[in-house]
Amino acid sequence: MPAPATVPDSSPKLPFIPLTRPTIDDETIAGVAEVLRSGWITSGPQVKAFEARLSEYCGGRPVRVFNSGTCTMEIALRIAGIGPGDEVITTPLSWVATSNVILEVGAKPVFVDIDPATRIIDLSLVEAAITPATRAIIPVDLAGLPVDRDRLHAIAKKHNLRVVEDAAQSFGTTWNGRRIGAFGDFVSFSFHPNKNITSIEGGCLVLNDEREARLAEQYRLQGVVRTGFDGMEVEILGGKFNLTDVAARVGLGQLARLDEFTTKRRELVRHYFELLDTPAVHALGLGLPPADFAESNWHMFQVVLPSTLTLKRAEVMAKLQEAGVGAGVHYPAIHLFALYRRQGWKEGDFPKAEAVCRNILTLPLFPTLTRAEIARVVTTLVSILQAHSKL
Ligand SMILES: *Cc1c(COP(=O)(O)O)cnc(C)c1O
Repeated sequence: MPAPATVPDSSPKLPFIPLTRPTIDDETIAGVAEVLRSGWITSGPQVKAFEARLSEYCGGRPVRVFNSGTCTMEIALRIAGIGPGDEVITTPLSWVATSNVILEVGAKPVFVDIDPATRIIDLSLVEAAITPATRAIIPVDLAGLPVDRDRLHAIAKKHNLRVVEDAAQSFGTTWNGRRIGAFGDFVSFSFHPNKNITSIEGGCLVLNDEREARLAEQYRLQGVVRTGFDGMEVEILGGKFNLTDVAARVGLGQLARLDEFTTKRRELVRHYFELLDTPAVHALGLGLPPADFAESNWHMFQVVLPSTLTLKRAEVMAKLQEAGVGAGVHYPAIHLFALYRRQGWKEGDFPKAEAVCRNILTLPLFPTLTRAEIARVVTTLVSILQAHSKL
């Protein structure tokens, strides 16, 4: 029961629960210090070691690391020879990087609406979006939930399309028991601090063969190819996308703990479901994610606020913040950003994605989150919904 207004509130404020928080252990910090003292701090032995471990994780496929999980996708598109005049199919519900890379190489994004239950691309709509100009598909495993790889690759094969899996959020996820990254065409992961493992900034691209891996190295660093002691050639235009050894050492420390992090996230999400998957909460109309505990790495736990709410999402977020609970929006619909509107997209083009994007809310989830904190998040959110429902 709230205290009467006349009594000054002397209760100490509960600590703030952030949306996410990386777990960097002391062994990793010591390892970073060693790299810093070693005399070689940019791309070198740690990058090689990180790539070798990532390749092992991805079933022996070639893997190259980069300084973001954005340039990885841009480079995959370049390796595939995609550019002006080409179309690439993707989802409007993602981090804007997913479609920015399509524009970056001069191609045209073609958005396909989502399945509102899973919030990922509705593969049953993909074939209708394919034209003679379509060259590739970039599916996104939003929140870590895997896009159906069997169906995806069957469509790609039938129409002779490349696939660049935007698996930025699904490192640790499996599809029918197989690790994302261990099969398929190009697979791109991000190691941004908010992702399930981090190298501070960074990302990696899983490739099909050594020819593609060599091209990836060229695109990564000014197109340079070195031979012997003094040979250097530049045949293609590359950029500056290499990862530092300091960052790679962080990534190595993180990769060793991936399974532990994934297990912990799944446990914590089970607790969210125990508290939210109840008749009382269902009556409030709150949308929950699919309860996938076998395959998803649970990169995020996202709810969809009910349309019967009398508050705007921003007001819900402000009230959560006031109560010491962080929350986030992942993401506004890409096609409604000014850059995209200027190219002809508008409200109503992808109604399912738009409806979800308006009301989606990410709640705190990270390996060191506690069950008590989840209870606080849920109690706070449910009391806001109860106090401001039209029902
Ligand atoms: C994080 C993210 C990216 C980009 O990764 P960066 O490492 O930040 O460049 C791309 N797509 C999705 C879906 C992401 O979540």
